[in-house]
Amino acid sequence: MKNIIIFGAPGSGKGTYSTEIAQRYGMGHISTGDVLRAEIKNGTELGKLAKGYIDNGQLIPDELMINILATTYDALPKGKGVIFDGFPRTIAQAEALKKMLEERGDNLGMMIELIVSEEVLMFRLLRRATQEGRADDNEETIRKRFAVYHSQTEPLSKWFAAEGIRHTFDWDICKTKEGMLEAIFAEIEKQNK
Ligand code: AMP
Repeated sequence: MKNIIIFGAPGSGKGTYSTEIAQRYGMGHISTGDVLRAEIKNGTELGKLAKGYIDNGQLIPDELMINILATTYDALPKGKGVIFDGFPRTIAQAEALKKMLEERGDNLGMMIELIVSEEVLMFRLLRRATQEGRADDNEETIRKRFAVYHSQTEPLSKWFAAEGIRHTFDWDICKTKEGMLEAIFAEIEKQNK
């Protein structure tokens, strides 16, 4: 299977769709947010450092994040393809990921962009706050995460388009999770023919 990068704003469903894709195709799954939250839960030095950024809606510095990603990737079994969920979030991270994969005889594969309006994103994130109790799911931090997304992450969409690997899926068109999944699975299968 080709590697997959799941891309989209906070609340766009990256974690949900990554899990579904990983299960269906038996792929590896790296969620950098989950890796960082596990570090915080375990009280590690990295966790303590990461917590300050996460609770503030800011991104962890690129160099640190790139090292964490490489270590996590190298610990995964190879050969089935990997889903990158929440990474890259900056152009520097995207370039580092491309280089890291090429050094290992691999490549970026395909990028899946989830397009969801800001009203729906805010509704979902506030709902998640009551369900999962994530410290960064409060209205003030969510606004900061949107601002960070627009300034630092969204420009990457064009970077992937220039690489010729961007595929977009629009919630307004697909309307339901099942509709999104059907379209996503069809594209993944087309790309892996
Ligand atoms: P997520 O679970 O993907 O929404 O990530 C939660 C938080 O973890 C983000 O708001 C960032 O503070 C941090 N984070 C996760 N992935 C990255 C990344 N690739 N680069 C920088 N910070 C990240």
